[in-house]
Amino acid sequence: MQWETVIGLEVHVQLATHSKIFSGASTAFGAEPNSQACAVDLGLPGVLPVLNEQAVAMAVQFGLAVHADIAEVSVFDRKNYFYPDLPKGYQTSQMYHPIVGPGEVEITLDDDTTKRIRIHHAHLEEDAGKSLHEDFHGMTGIDLNRAGTPLLEIVSEPDMRSAKEAAAYLKAIHSIVTYLGISDGNMAEGSMRCDVNVSVRPKGQETFGTRAEIKNVNSFRFVERAIAFEVERQIELIEDGGTVVQETRLFDPERDETRSMRTKEEANDYRYFPCPDLLPVVLDQAYLDHLRGQLPELPADKRERFQHELGLSAYDASVLSASRDMAEFFEEAHRVCGDAKQAANWVQGELSGALNRENLSISDSPVSAKQLGELVVRVLDDTINGKAAKQVFQAIWHGEGDSADAVIESKGLKQVTDSGAIEAMIDQVIADSPAQVAQYRDAEPEKRGKMIGYFVGQVMKASRGTANPQQVNGLLKDKLDALL
Ligand code: ADP
Ligand code: MG
Repeated sequence: MQWETVIGLEVHVQLATHSKIFSGASTAFGAEPNSQACAVDLGLPGVLPVLNEQAVAMAVQFGLAVHADIAEVSVFDRKNYFYPDLPKGYQTSQMYHPIVGPGEVEITLDDDTTKRIRIHHAHLEEDAGKSLHEDFHGMTGIDLNRAGTPLLEIVSEPDMRSAKEAAAYLKAIHSIVTYLGISDGNMAEGSMRCDVNVSVRPKGQETFGTRAEIKNVNSFRFVERAIAFEVERQIELIEDGGTVVQETRLFDPERDETRSMRTKEEANDYRYFPCPDLLPVVLDQAYLDHLRGQLPELPADKRERFQHELGLSAYDASVLSASRDMAEFFEEAHRVCGDAKQAANWVQGELSGALNRENLSISDSPVSAKQLGELVVRVLDDTINGKAAKQVFQAIWHGEGDSADAVIESKGLKQVTDSGAIEAMIDQVIADSPAQVAQYRDAEPEKRGKMIGYFVGQVMKASRGTANPQQVNGLLKDKLDALL
């Protein structure tokens, strides 16, 4: 039997407002527990929520970015449940009239093909507090700093068919919200978390299978691993004659498995009803137009432009447009050097390699886009060869010089193209290597091509890497062949 996987994601994005969605308390990460929860967040009697307009604007910008219908009227509802980290006894959310209606996102797969994933809707809601189990013996601490932090919950249609597609979708959402600047997208700090709905069905069958929902998966890698485990579990279960029950499961990254949390029978009845403390949100066309006018160029448009206007490969265009910081770095380097392909190579090669090695993000790069662009200029105008260029890069990276020109000057890396100077170095190397010259002379003609490498290496070394490699190759061949 051939099985098909069906996946739908509910992504919670923490919006980057300075204050909470219904109060003026700060949302800054990492503060002392309970130092950023005010009377509204604590749900004290007599307080009234006031909607943060910034959260509304951010939700609308997301909606516009995914070509969604924006609701003229959206309404906040109370989702009632009791939990220690929810002091009000209900979460203010949007159930019946969400702010963002149907839209779509384009994802890019490994083979550079694209696929559209439909978004069912996105709604605004508040986050709950955090239970702290580790610091207290036999007790649980509650930190309400996060209570009331604005979230945008983005609900997809069940359009994904593999773990890879789900990860690509999550990356696309991440890239859109960070481009828009409506979230820092920091998954390690919980700024983006997702619930993964997974089901399987026999290939060719129309109706969906019963799904399990895996809660709170917080990294791209975990999404893939949780799905891989869950798909295998469901297929095995069905093939052994069992049936999948609709339930909520938890992913345990340490054991690489999902475990049941609660089944549908135990699920809460939230008794949603419109929040009487908050007015419906009414948006007019002028407001939407104003926000539309502030949208930056989005990742899909950038990718398209990088590929079709700058002539980059689909792969390069997709890598360089995935993060806004990376895209802006590349564009600045390109502006300075004027060669898109070279700028792309350096950003994805030497620069990304160095950043990965030191675990730095591109915004913390010790080499600026301008410095990299100027370095590329010196490669393009033949002032330095490729080998010296890497040395220059390393020198700027380690703070040994402010610009490519300064390093080239101070380290004497200017490429030697004066054939007289190169010939003198070649003569010296030949004179110093009688044994290798004899071997070269005695070798079969077709093997000599390979043997020339030794001499090239010696000459490059003698020039401290600055000789023009093409000239060295050509002149060496002439001189060695003259000895035959
Ligand atoms: P609920 O109202 O119980 O949250 P929804 O119908 O809103 O359920 O779906 C929630 C999420 O689950 C959506 O992202 C949707 O795409 C996904 N989903 C729904 N049915 C399936 C299914 N059979 N297999 C996989 N995902 C599904
Ligand atoms: Mg749901």
